[in-house]
Amino acid sequence: MKDIVVYNTLTRKYEKLETLTPGLVKMYVCGPTVYDHSHIGHARTYVAFDGIKKYLMLRGYQVLHVQNITDIDDKIINKANELGVDWREIVETYSKEYFELMGKLGIRANINPRVTEHIPEIIEFIDDLIKKGYAYVAPSGVYFDVDKYPYYGQLSGIKDKKMWNQETFVKDKKNPYDFALWKCAKPGEPWWESPWCKGRPGWHIECSTMSSKYLGKQFDIHGGARDLIFPHHENEIAQSEARFGVHPWVRYWLHTGYLTIKGEKMSKSLGNIIALKDVLAKYDPKVVRLWLLSAHYRTELNFDWEALERTKTSLERMRMTVSALRRLVEKGSPKGRLSEWEIEAINKAIDLRNSFHEAMSYDFNTPKALASVSEMMKLGNEALEKESYEASLAVLGAIEEADRVFEVFVEESKADVEPFVELLVEVRKELRNRKLWDLADMIRSRLAELGVRLLDKGKETEWRFA
Ligand SMILES: [Zn+2]
Repeated sequence: MKDIVVYNTLTRKYEKLETLTPGLVKMYVCGPTVYDHSHIGHARTYVAFDGIKKYLMLRGYQVLHVQNITDIDDKIINKANELGVDWREIVETYSKEYFELMGKLGIRANINPRVTEHIPEIIEFIDDLIKKGYAYVAPSGVYFDVDKYPYYGQLSGIKDKKMWNQETFVKDKKNPYDFALWKCAKPGEPWWESPWCKGRPGWHIECSTMSSKYLGKQFDIHGGARDLIFPHHENEIAQSEARFGVHPWVRYWLHTGYLTIKGEKMSKSLGNIIALKDVLAKYDPKVVRLWLLSAHYRTELNFDWEALERTKTSLERMRMTVSALRRLVEKGSPKGRLSEWEIEAINKAIDLRNSFHEAMSYDFNTPKALASVSEMMKLGNEALEKESYEASLAVLGAIEEADRVFEVFVEESKADVEPFVELLVEVRKELRNRKLWDLADMIRSRLAELGVRLLDKGKETEWRFA
C-alpha cells in the first residue's frame, strides 16, 4: 500500500505522513464559534476532515480527533446584546444545533472541548507565557509579545511586519501586531477571575490550550479552514512554541478551501450565507456529504442547488446498485469455477480498489477516489446483469471499503428485516396482478413511512431503504 502523502501548508510541500507515535494520528481541528446557525461552509471543512480521518482509520491508524467549541467570544456577546438575552442561551441554542447537524453528516470527534470549561488551564498557559517573557500585562488585558518570538509569519508566509497588524489597535499594546491572550471585561460583559483582571480569554489561546491538554505538547495534524491561517493559526503556533519550547509544534497543517456562493465568499455583509439546516431540510445528509467530498478539500467549492440535485440522482442509482449487489451476494453461493469474464471482472475490482487507495493516499484526493467508485458501480451493474456471485462479491468488497471513507453508498445493516420487505413486495405484486390497487398502494405508503421505497418497473418492483 502506498505511503500517505499530505500537502503541508507550513512547508508548502507534499510530505510523507510520519506520526509522532507509530499507528496513532493526533489531530486537532478548529471548531465553530457558536453564535449563529452552522452554515454550509462549516459543513465543508468538517466533512473534509472527517473524510481524512476515516481514510487514516481505514489505513489502520487510530485517530484521536479533537474539535473545540468556542463558547465565549465577542461575537457571542454581541449577539446576546442584540437579542437582549443571556450569552449562555445563544451558546446553548447554536451548539445544540451544531452537534445535531454534524451527527447527521456522520461527524463525531473524540473530544469536543469547550473554552469555558478550560479557563484554569488557559490562565495557567498565559501565566507561563508571562513568566517565560513572551507575554506582558497591560491595563486592558494580557498580550503576546510577537517580537519575542522568532518564527512569526512562518505559516502564512507573511514576513512584512506591517502586514501583521491585527485586532483594533489598543494603545497599551507594545506593537500593533501583538494579540490579546486575556481581555479585561468591559461593564456588562461576562468575566472570570484571573491574576490580571476579571475577564475572558482571547480566541487564539483557547486552541493552544485545549489542543495541548488533550494531544500533548506536540501533535501530528492541525486542521481548519483556509481563512484561519492568519492570524489564528499563526498565533496558535507562536503561543505554543513559546510555551513548550518545541519547533515545529505541529508537524502537518492542513487547510480546506473556501466554499463560495456564485463565486463569492459567504459573508454576513453580502447576506449570502446558506444555513446548513436549510440544506439538510431539502437533502438527505448522505447527498450533502457526498457532494462536499466530490471536491478536493483544498480547492474552492461553489455551492449550487443543482449540483446537489445531480448528486442526489447519482447517489440513488449507486445505492440501488449496492443493495442489489448485497442481495445477490446474500442469496448466492460460489459456483466453484470462474468464467473468463469473471476473472477479468475480479481483476478489475482489484485494480479499482488500488486506484481508490492511490487517490486517497496522495493528499486525500476524494474526487479521484470517487471516479474509481463510479467505475466500481459500473462493474457492479455488469456483475448483476450476468448474475455473477463471484464478481458481485469482489466489487461489493471494493465498494464497501471505499465507503468507509464516504459513508454514503452502503445502507446501514438492516439485514434482518429484508426478508420481510421482500415478502411484502411479493404480496403487493400479487395484489397488483389482481388489480387490488388500493391495498397495493397501502403497502407502498406504509413501507414508505417505515423508510422503504418501492420503485415499480413494469410488473417488477425494486426496493431500497430510503
Ligand atoms: Zn483554533
